[in-house]
Amino acid sequence: MHIVIIGNGIAGITTARHVRKLSDHRITVISGETPYFWSRTALMYIYMGHMKFAHTQPYEPWFWQKNRIELKQAWVERIDTAQQRVMLAGGESLAYDKLVLATGSRPNFYGWPGQDAKGVQGMVSYQDLQAIERYSEGLERAVVVGGGLIGIELAEMFHSRHIPVTFLVREESFWNRVMPEEESAMINREILANGIDLRLETELQEILPGPDGRVRAVRTSAGEEIPCQFVGITAGVSPNLDLAAGTAIETGRGFLVNEYLETTIPGIFAIGDCAELRQPAPDRRAVEAVWYTGKLMGPVLAQTLCGTPTPYRQGTWFNSAKFMDIEWQTYGTVPVVPGADEPHLFWMHPDGRKSIRIAYERESGRVRGFNLMGIRYRQNVCTHWIEAGTHIESVLENLGAANFDPEFFKQYEAELVQTYNQQTGQNLRLRRRRGLRNMLAILGA
Ligand SMILES: Cc1cc2nc3c(=O)[nH]c(=O)nc-3n(C[C@H](O)[C@H](O)[C@H](O)COP(=O)(O)OP(=O)(O)OC[C@H]3O[C@@H](n4cnc5c(N)ncnc54)[C@H](O)[C@@H]3O)c2cc1C
Repeated sequence: MHIVIIGNGIAGITTARHVRKLSDHRITVISGETPYFWSRTALMYIYMGHMKFAHTQPYEPWFWQKNRIELKQAWVERIDTAQQRVMLAGGESLAYDKLVLATGSRPNFYGWPGQDAKGVQGMVSYQDLQAIERYSEGLERAVVVGGGLIGIELAEMFHSRHIPVTFLVREESFWNRVMPEEESAMINREILANGIDLRLETELQEILPGPDGRVRAVRTSAGEEIPCQFVGITAGVSPNLDLAAGTAIETGRGFLVNEYLETTIPGIFAIGDCAELRQPAPDRRAVEAVWYTGKLMGPVLAQTLCGTPTPYRQGTWFNSAKFMDIEWQTYGTVPVVPGADEPHLFWMHPDGRKSIRIAYERESGRVRGFNLMGIRYRQNVCTHWIEAGTHIESVLENLGAANFDPEFFKQYEAELVQTYNQQTGQNLRLRRRRGLRNMLAILGA
């Protein structure tokens, strides 16, 4: 059997690796962007000089041959589902028995006047990184449009080279559709403290090109004209559905897939950023464009491709990022606003740069989610507490188990317990069992 995978990102490559572990099937991975898989999440670190591009490639070039994974650097132009062939740019075509679409995301461009000017860029691909590098030369000011994870990374990248940045954010506070008010305000402060010209409640209206076709300024919804030679478009991403054209593959926001990650055409599957689940789990999104999604879907799909149909279950949500110098981790469900039945226990360090938030059910006491800023908790411990429906008080008494090595990570359990006691009138005490022994006890090992 020949399995063809389009896309050599985390989703496509994880699938290929797991199919090889399970079978002797012929595997071909086709991707137009780069010859080898690289970590897209490390894009900013290449620009900032923390890493060389080669360091973002987790496998040595010989790995692919050794594991009999054929790599082809080419753009797929079209899929002929009747003939089971993919058509490549340049005229070549390839037959498949099973096809996996792992084509990732594209940056959203909303049809702004002037968006085709030179110096207007998204930030998703290796080619985008190269263009940003090119446009950085002699840059006097960059404008970044869109307050999400990629936008703040792009702002930080320019800031690291002392290039002045204006950051346009449509909302009244950074990423406040995802972050509760206090955390969102913390990030606003961090952005401003780094000298970035943050403009909240401000939208891009128009991009103004100069006589040479390169952007010379933007006009904002406030009517202001901001001179700049670069505009970063980071107003979210959407699944890359180009290859649906001319096929009967049903699409919504993404390629629509059932629980086996199969599209409407039998034998054609979609995973990672480009896939949309027909039936997402409660509290979860149908398109989850994050690294871990591709990583989790790959091994599940490999089982199905190798003859053991296996449904994909979304599991407990996890995400992490860095907002300038503040790390963020989230586990489970943490609504932006606490509900009457689902209060939040929230504590913030007096320095305003660290916080812990735990969402739990008032009636049952079950913890639902964690939101951590500037503090790290162990994923396996938090996930276990959420999945086991552990009572908030039991979590608080045993918080030490979630902490990393206290030698390196200061702990704030006493402060959190004190906040809980103040909020609820309880008199809870912290258990002093700590470290690995405590964690093993919690996990029942
Ligand atoms: C700057 C940046 C920072 C990020 N940071 C984080 C983070 O901190 N945490 C996190 O969880 N997620 C992060 N993400 C998101 C994460 O990188 C993606 O969710 C993940 O890479 C998606 O993997 P994928 O395999 O689905 O697709 P991709 O990695 O996008 O791979 C798809 C590949 O398919 C290729 N392709 C598409 N169409 C064709 C075609 N027709 N022919 C040939 N090849 C084709 C593309 O060129 C691409 O190489 C970040 C993304 C970006 C851009």
